Amino acid sequence: MFPDNRCELLILGAGWGGWIVVCSTQYAWLRPAAFVLEKIRIIDTAGGFGGAWYWNRYPGLACDIESYCYLPLLEETGYMPKHRYSSGEEVRTYAESVAQKWGLVDSAVFQTKADKLVWDEENKEWQVDLVQTRKGEQVQRLNIRAKFVATVNGVQNWPKIPGFPGILDYQGDIFHS
Ligand SMILES: Cc1cc2nc3c(=O)[nH]c(=O)nc-3n(C[C@H](O)[C@H](O)[C@H](O)COP(=O)(O)OP(=O)(O)OC[C@H]3O[C@@H](n4cnc5c(N)ncnc54)[C@H](O)[C@@H]3O)c2cc1C
Repeated sequence: MFPDNRCELLILGAGWGGWIVVCSTQYAWLRPAAFVLEKIRIIDTAGGFGGAWYWNRYPGLACDIESYCYLPLLEETGYMPKHRYSSGEEVRTYAESVAQKWGLVDSAVFQTKADKLVWDEENKEWQVDLVQTRKGEQVQRLNIRAKFVATVNGVQNWPKIPGFPGILDYQGDIFHS
């Protein structure tokens, strides 16, 4: 998972943000930094790729931006969106399939939360506390080191429940993305 408890580049978040950072190390913007896939790890508390699209699967979920603009790297993948506005399922499946196609799966460490990041000035690297919570397994704590950390942990992955008076006492069904 983490050979010698370290990696070169740790990417915190497996949504579009994380996915684009990994791809860019291989294909475009970060290429001069020459990160090899084997030295990259992408972690997420989720069990797969997609970020917001992994967590949200409610009926009718769809992207409100045209797929041709929203889905990243369509030219590189050659993927043709099925609809002008993709369903949530299509977006999530696209994220998973690209990860498979480009060999990102082995770089991913899922069901793993970054609990603490501390910069070690002396050694010029990050000390990262990770917590792995996996069904049927004991909680594991890992302490790893990374030269670089990309924090692409999103801004909409924690529901903000409206503050209506009494909402917590409401007995009926309630849903919030
Ligand atoms: C229900 C819903 C519908 C949306 N619909 C649209 C839409 O139609 N059009 C649009 O443009 N945008 C939409 N968005 C916004 C969407 O969040 C962005 O478009 C985009 O997916 C964000 O990607 P991201 O990688 O930045 O973050 P995210 O997709 O949120 O991914 C961040 C990931 O980081 C992980 N993470 C966070 N903290 C930690 C930690 N400490 N340790 C490990 N992992 C961590 C999270 O589990 C998450 O998987 C929607 C968002 C939601 C929630």
